[in-house]
Amino acid sequence: MECTKCGNPDVIIERKASGQALCKDCFIKSIEKKVISTIKKENFIEKGDKVLVALSGGKDSVVTLEILNSYVERHIIELCAVTMDEGIAGYRNEGIEISKAHAERLGVPHKIVSFKDTFGISIDEIMALDEHRGSCTYCGVFRRWIINRVAREFGATKIVTGHNLDDETQAIMMNYLEGNVENLAKIGPKTESKSELFTVKIKPLREVPEHEIALYAEAKGLEVHSTPCPYAQASFRKEVANIMKDLSKEHPTIMYSTLRGFDKIRPAIRAEMSHNYEFDRCERCGEPSSNRLCRACTFLEELGK
Ligand code: SF4
Ligand code: ZN
Repeated sequence: MECTKCGNPDVIIERKASGQALCKDCFIKSIEKKVISTIKKENFIEKGDKVLVALSGGKDSVVTLEILNSYVERHIIELCAVTMDEGIAGYRNEGIEISKAHAERLGVPHKIVSFKDTFGISIDEIMALDEHRGSCTYCGVFRRWIINRVAREFGATKIVTGHNLDDETQAIMMNYLEGNVENLAKIGPKTESKSELFTVKIKPLREVPEHEIALYAEAKGLEVHSTPCPYAQASFRKEVANIMKDLSKEHPTIMYSTLRGFDKIRPAIRAEMSHNYEFDRCERCGEPSSNRLCRACTFLEELGK
């Protein structure tokens, strides 16, 4: 088999969805072109933006950093990065080291923020308690709290996350199946909020399938953290992920069509569900919140912190 772009016989991927076969160089170019075209189409980036990358050291965030760095080289944006240390022994350190190395290599200002220093408790300590809501619930809420704060500290105008096509279609299908229209309305390429204290979040990898991101990292020789978290458990999201993967075998365009279809009806869902949330400040931490306490502080009070 030959590369359908250049004829090179060393093909590294056959895309069933498009019938393309690509060699390493053409594959790398095709991913970069796709991400750049998503950025253009969604108006993600404006000249002068300071973009904060949520860098975990995993393939999605490392690839995001790598591709966005081409905008830095062209003097369009500035980059900065933040890595969370959730306090999970034997798991997070490797990701932190990999993140540090990539940030240093590209000269990107980088902060490492720990849950323990910020909230007085680590995920390991929470999981040792008799009563808790499950590690991932705290992780998600605490991470978002830190990212928003660090974005303001850096003076970032955008926050970029590494959500890929699989992540987006899983979120869409999960919320359809659960009938959770409120959450469905929140899915999309850009997360904007009425509160000025929240920074706009963008997802430049949302049209790239997960396995192609892994292949891009490998093709470019990028070191990534791939050890699974010890607390990762069976979840409804994983069940949906498996269904979508299975369907993709016989219907290779299914994730693309799920995303495209959703993007078409998204404005209608948003219009239907747009409540005028009154944002005030959390009484404890001063972050924006529609309740007396933000979710992070609600959890911290429950934990006695
Ligand atoms: Fe946190 Fe859950 Fe991810 Fe582990 S799997 S890092 S606990 S969100
Ligand atoms: Zn708070």
